[in-house]
Amino acid sequence: MKVLIVSDVHANLAALQAVLTQNPTVDALWNLGDTVGYGPRPRECLDLMVDLAANPALVGNHDLACLGDIDVSEFNPVAQVASRWTSLQLGMEHRTYLRELPALTTASGYTLAHGSPRAPVWEYVTSVAIATDNFAHFDNDVCFIGHTHVAMYAVLRENEPVAQIFQLRDGDTLDLLQARYIINPGSVGQPRDHDPRAGYALLDTDRGTITAHRIAYDIATTQRQMALANLPDVLIGRLAVGM
Ligand code: ZN
Repeated sequence: MKVLIVSDVHANLAALQAVLTQNPTVDALWNLGDTVGYGPRPRECLDLMVDLAANPALVGNHDLACLGDIDVSEFNPVAQVASRWTSLQLGMEHRTYLRELPALTTASGYTLAHGSPRAPVWEYVTSVAIATDNFAHFDNDVCFIGHTHVAMYAVLRENEPVAQIFQLRDGDTLDLLQARYIINPGSVGQPRDHDPRAGYALLDTDRGTITAHRIAYDIATTQRQMALANLPDVLIGRLAVGM
């Protein structure tokens, strides 16, 4: 089975469409959460997830904030503005859809979490120490995460006490049968690893491999949509630099 894994779409429809157009023949779509928040097309992105039967699909902290289920005061001011705007865009069907999603699940022998397996909604896996600790919090060999918007992988080899962390670059392929992994495919809609292209990954469950990809999309279209929605300038500007 060929699986398209996306995360942190953040209502960036142009980026999501570019990824989907590039991958018309996958067998499944897995969504690691934060489908909305920040970006200009929350309804359309959620509708696409429903239409394409993304399963599993996870809920992220921004999704929960837009539902009013967590306190947005934990967000920075521009994220709060975007969250309130997004909340007003969502219909009852979008709220019902998001409310039913987990932040942590398993599929085909893989673990999926928005932030981390230890704290699925909030924890950022950004260091060797955090990654190493998190390997004790899931049973499968591989866990896919999002949340940081940075494409990376942590690998824990047999008989080694500490994980190693590496950048996950366009075209990198990992052999998942060789070790335990925590893998972040990067963000579709708001990359923060200095590469503004949409990030995603393709998992081949038969071979036990995953390949990372980046694809250019029409950033100016998303920026124009954000400006028309009066979303904060800093959120508009960051898309062009991938930060
Ligand atoms: Zn996010």
